[in-house]
Amino acid sequence: MDPQPVFCHNRDCPARGQIGQGNIGVFSRKDRRYICHVCGQTFTASKGTTFYRLRTAQEIIVMVVTLLAHGCPVQAIVAAFELDERTVLSWQKRAGEQCARVQQHLVEQPRDLGQVQADEMRVRKQGGIVWMAMGLQVSARLWLGGVVGTQRDRALITALLQKVKACALCRPLLWCVDGLSAYVEAIRATFRTPVRSGQAGRPPQRPWDDLCIAQVLKQYAQKRVVGITRHLVQGTATQIERLLQQTQGGGQVNVAFIERLNATFRAYLSALVRRGRALARQTETLHLAMYLMGTVYNFCTYHKSLRVAICLPGNQRRWARRTPAIAAGITDHLWTIEELLCFQVPLPPWRPPQRRGRPSTSAKLLIARWCS
Ligand SMILES: [Zn+2]
Repeated sequence: MDPQPVFCHNRDCPARGQIGQGNIGVFSRKDRRYICHVCGQTFTASKGTTFYRLRTAQEIIVMVVTLLAHGCPVQAIVAAFELDERTVLSWQKRAGEQCARVQQHLVEQPRDLGQVQADEMRVRKQGGIVWMAMGLQVSARLWLGGVVGTQRDRALITALLQKVKACALCRPLLWCVDGLSAYVEAIRATFRTPVRSGQAGRPPQRPWDDLCIAQVLKQYAQKRVVGITRHLVQGTATQIERLLQQTQGGGQVNVAFIERLNATFRAYLSALVRRGRALARQTETLHLAMYLMGTVYNFCTYHKSLRVAICLPGNQRRWARRTPAIAAGITDHLWTIEELLCFQVPLPPWRPPQRRGRPSTSAKLLIARWCS
């Protein structure tokens, strides 16, 4: 047991979430418990992970979650591992929640996205259909997040755009989307920054510079694509060409990258959406299943088109494989699913409680030690 990368989980502790401050010690090796010397609380090593308070062996849970993340039907897992169906579903939910936290902590950080493709997918399930909208950064093939809704409307698209905005720096950005009319207005309304003038009231919003929008419209005849029209909605042709060159090495405006990802998700999802009880629960289940798949795709899967050649002495070459998270500079290695499920997302730093009057000497000492 190594207390170095561990942090205190007590929400009221001034040292909560802080790593490498020397406040954590080993409390019991036998019970795998740590102690925080600031607040005096002890906690188990699995606190804050998927495995917290689960009695089944960690290897079994990792195996089941791996199968779920690759589209294995729940019924098959129930039969193979002799588990209760509710147990498997609860593990899937826990893993999905963990993945959503990891995605928010590591992927939803401002970065220069270059080109983003977005698309919606119609998912058939018991008692109706739902829509799943997802976004992808083209250059790193990074899955930026997704939303699930019952309607394919502006609210769904806006929720997706908010997620993508959390991942974006205000730099030249090209959006490639399908013909859904809600996109254009929603992108213009979301990608704006408030300009604070110091005056009272809501500050005016300024649209991002160098925001380009391109739509790919497909014509169908008897369920087959017979023609493609590209429509440059915003931005000049030169700007769009430069962004395409930077992010996909040239070529034309397309939505091929997100469609490829959709196809992968669809293949894995079909097994998950067959059974359901209530609509609300289904949407929630789908949302968490999507996060499990998306995060496993980002962190635990090598992407063939992301590999780079390394030149070795003697004119030899070796291919270095990369996951989308490596290509985006988030991590430096392929994660195992166990690593993903064990990753402890740090708590936000402690804030002193709001009290009237001047802080006491002891409160001042705590603030000076832990809030600087
Ligand atoms: Zn503590």
